[in-house]
Amino acid sequence: MQISPILERFRQYSGDAQIMRIYEKAASLQGLRVLHINTTARGGGVAEILSALTPITNTLGITHARKVIQLDEASGALMGHLVDLLQNHDEPGAMPERDVQIFLEKLSHSLIRTPELDADIYVIHDFQLVPLAQLFSWLQPAFWFCHVDTAHPNPHGVQYVRQFLDDYELAVFNTSASVLQDLPLEKRQVINLGIDPFVDKNQAMDRTEGIERIRRCGLDPERPLLTQVARFGRWKDPWQAVDIYRLVKVQEPHVQLALVGAMEASDDHTAMEVLQSVKRYVGEDPDVHFLYDPQRIGNREVNAFQRFSNVVLQRSQREGFGLTATEAMWKYQPIIGTSSTGLRSQIIHEENGYIADDVGASAFYALHLLHHPEIKDQLGDRAHAYVQQHHLLPGMLEDYLDSLLHICQ
Ligand code: UDP
Repeated sequence: MQISPILERFRQYSGDAQIMRIYEKAASLQGLRVLHINTTARGGGVAEILSALTPITNTLGITHARKVIQLDEASGALMGHLVDLLQNHDEPGAMPERDVQIFLEKLSHSLIRTPELDADIYVIHDFQLVPLAQLFSWLQPAFWFCHVDTAHPNPHGVQYVRQFLDDYELAVFNTSASVLQDLPLEKRQVINLGIDPFVDKNQAMDRTEGIERIRRCGLDPERPLLTQVARFGRWKDPWQAVDIYRLVKVQEPHVQLALVGAMEASDDHTAMEVLQSVKRYVGEDPDVHFLYDPQRIGNREVNAFQRFSNVVLQRSQREGFGLTATEAMWKYQPIIGTSSTGLRSQIIHEENGYIADDVGASAFYALHLLHHPEIKDQLGDRAHAYVQQHHLLPGMLEDYLDSLLHICQ
């Protein structure tokens, strides 16, 4: 059995039984080569998951390689419509047939079979690339890994995706609520996502460093701070974070808001538009800070904001999972989240955070946390414990190995 120094570090959190199970599962997959294909090298949850999984699986004797297929602007716009359909039952408009044909034609030229792309199993990420297994017969066996919130999809979106799923051995989702209902039982699986507490973004940080990093971003660490960490995207609803901040400010005039969304993801084609819209919505308010420059906002800045803000908001109207919530909960933050699929799966109302869909209730909870730090500490301890129990890297790794085993058997 190959000992993984990365996995060994998790014994303190995960316990011997889980670590042993992982070694046993990995042992029967020795020598396996897996190729992951997605649409961005950096930025966003998928890139985060891959950068957590790859080093640990490599040390377990399962080789991982990665291929990024970048989409052009027209394809990006079409995929923007598709994600809206997949996440929103009431989204108007079908998938325009001619645009779909053009997109599929482009996608059919996006890969050339070379030895570097040879693998025993292919993992195709998200809605953009779901046609790949049908377009390239050599991408077999494969599983499709869906990361968006498909709990209440529009039938046009489902119909589009569904036509490609027969070419996959498995379709994998982030939560059971997102599993597409008409999939045969043996073809569906859930991989519970998890974070790595040892990386820069999540490891312990002392207060002096954290406060200094927040100060360097232009905020006053002496004043109360609300933060939302999220890409600037329609479904992340930064506008609602602004509304909540404005209500809190009526009672707490010194409060500041940080919208942290360093835009590195090359597959995010609407981020600039959303950012401009939120800036217009805010107008002239020096206490609202937009932090989107990846040169200035690195993993340690994200760590500092998640760890040392007074209140962390996550206002996503749709969320496949929401790693940003997991990351902040690990840092002892009770999140004020929405009832969207991924957040509901992590936040237990009044136990380890708050679920509130409207602005008034959210502002009420924000003020409550600002005025009662002892309650914040209690909920924050439970948020940390919840992540330790359910959403650390070994849990995700074990589910992922199960998916590989399912395909190999
Ligand atoms: N993220 C980051 N810098 C930012 C904003 C987000 O590194 O300024 C990271 C965040 O920490 C998380 C990921 O991007 O790891 C976002 O994942 P999530 O599942 O929350 O949302 P997605 O972008 O995949 O919809």
